[in-house]
Amino acid sequence: MNKIPPVDLTRQYELISEEANLAVLEILNSGNYIGGKAVATFEQQFAQYTGVSSCVSCNSGTDALYLALRALNIGEGDEVITSPFTFFATAEVISRVGAKPIFVDIDIDTFNFNLAQVEKAISPQTKAIVPVHLFGQPVDMTGLMAIAKTHNLIVIEDCAQATGASWQEQKVGSIGHVGCFSFFPTKNLGACGDGGAVTTNDPAIAKQMRILKEHGSPERYRHDSIGINSRIDGIQAAILSIKLRHLDFWNEQRATAAKYYHELLNAITLIKLPQAISGGNSVWNQYTICVGDRKSSTSQKTSRDRVKECLQQQEIISMIYYPIPLHLQPVYRDLGYKKGQLPIVEQAAREVLSLPMFPGISQAEQERVAYALKDCLG
Ligand SMILES: *Cc1c(COP(=O)(O)O)cnc(C)c1O
Repeated sequence: MNKIPPVDLTRQYELISEEANLAVLEILNSGNYIGGKAVATFEQQFAQYTGVSSCVSCNSGTDALYLALRALNIGEGDEVITSPFTFFATAEVISRVGAKPIFVDIDIDTFNFNLAQVEKAISPQTKAIVPVHLFGQPVDMTGLMAIAKTHNLIVIEDCAQATGASWQEQKVGSIGHVGCFSFFPTKNLGACGDGGAVTTNDPAIAKQMRILKEHGSPERYRHDSIGINSRIDGIQAAILSIKLRHLDFWNEQRATAAKYYHELLNAITLIKLPQAISGGNSVWNQYTICVGDRKSSTSQKTSRDRVKECLQQQEIISMIYYPIPLHLQPVYRDLGYKKGQLPIVEQAAREVLSLPMFPGISQAEQERVAYALKDCLG
């Protein structure tokens, strides 16, 4: 029996291999390895795709978030409201600039933070909100921008898992003040290495982010601030330009696969399927179900963990994003959150299971996943 991996990147590469190989060789022959035309071209194309005036490329999604926070002067004494259900980097950069992450509970239907909780968490110290479009599903940006406007807050979108997603026909990353993207290989638009970008419609913020990613240097050898070194190399930019042309097709393939999972799994009462909210167009970075916990007389493990192991025995690899919500991470003990304080996200952490999902997954593979899942829940 063939293994069904959580992600198979070789199926994307097949489609672009000729073009990509040529583009990489061209860069190798050009001697222009950092910066140069390939990077400038990709920045332009990505700005256009996202529907913004500026895109600044950088080394990673983590750096993108860091640059956005720094450019918007968020730091010591500031509070930033975000989701506890995200990859650690989202909160890590808030801490790294010296600000305090404030975690609010999520909606179990979308896995995104709950807007009523966001509004309740606003204090005189709040300076910004970082919505995370988790698993490809956009946050309700109409609601969020209204809250931000009322309270005069900055919105930095974490779009790492949602490249190409839109909220009411507007691409994520073009709605808040800054959008932050990751091109880590498993994201919807993935490089063959690390990469990231920030997007904005504000030229002054774009300029500031560009200065910060170049050692705080607006002109060579003059340094106005303490920045970082964060760049994408020419080879990655050339590959991303090629992949960008296929992104909508790959996202459609993900949507088709999500629909098929829904058909296959809809009748199973012991699990909860991911819900698409109206107004949003998800790009299905993950297809994440909840496995309701049933006590077992023979095992201490959660039902979810038992199902995951059972799938693995059938050569199907599922993933847990994320097993520990950020408010309960050891490093954030000092923030004083207690177990049980954000009950929905804590339930999600016990129940979520992401099934194999990637462009090019076959119907036969999905059927095998569904069959095994029913068997494992049995
Ligand atoms: C992947 C990811 C990041 C970080 O991106 P890197 O390119 O790995 O630094 C940030 N936030 C979220 C939600 C992510 O999924």
